[in-house]
Amino acid sequence: MAYQHIDSQGNNIALSVGKVLCIGRNYLDHIQEMNAVVSEAPLLFMKPKAALCHMQKPIAIPTDKGECHNELEVAVLLKAPLKNASDDDVKAAIWGVGLGLDLTLREVQAELKAQGQPWERAKSFDNSAPLSGFVPISKVNNLDDLRFTLAINGKIRQTGHTELMLHKVIPLIAHMSSQFSLDSGDVILTGTPKGVGELLPADRVEASLEGYLAVSTEVIAE
Ligand code: ZN
Repeated sequence: MAYQHIDSQGNNIALSVGKVLCIGRNYLDHIQEMNAVVSEAPLLFMKPKAALCHMQKPIAIPTDKGECHNELEVAVLLKAPLKNASDDDVKAAIWGVGLGLDLTLREVQAELKAQGQPWERAKSFDNSAPLSGFVPISKVNNLDDLRFTLAINGKIRQTGHTELMLHKVIPLIAHMSSQFSLDSGDVILTGTPKGVGELLPADRVEASLEGYLAVSTEVIAE
């Protein structure tokens, strides 16, 4: 069945499904674990519509392309188009907030990096963006004070706090809209903190956005 945005209660959201805009290197601790450098302009990339799937269903990963890594990120769903947006425009265009996994074929990415090639093969494959339901923005107190956690097989692997982002949610989306037209139904993945690691079939995955939502799911082979 085709992916459709849902709220945190599991109800369909009446928005079309768009693309996913992502930022790399938005948390210093993750930049350090990757031995990468802080880039002044945000490092942006995209995932197409076919990347979207539901996080609460089993997460199907490729098993023939090297390690597939978890990157748990805060996801933002847009309800209105944005182009050259101000911070206020962005605030008015947010439907809500959830969690997303920016699944990454880490060995493929390393090869692409070494060859100076774009990252799509590593990050934009089908089902590479499992998403939770979304909490309406009216229920969210402060986008810069969201804590999130990923546990694999009962062991905490990632903890994040949006306060630690190099590019905070609202100015990040405003910047993205200066580079690409954003549309209602588009999703923004806001970057991963440290703790990326290999996912394996049969792994038990628990993701939570503290105080707002939790998802339990499992990994299966594609
Ligand atoms: Zn990421």
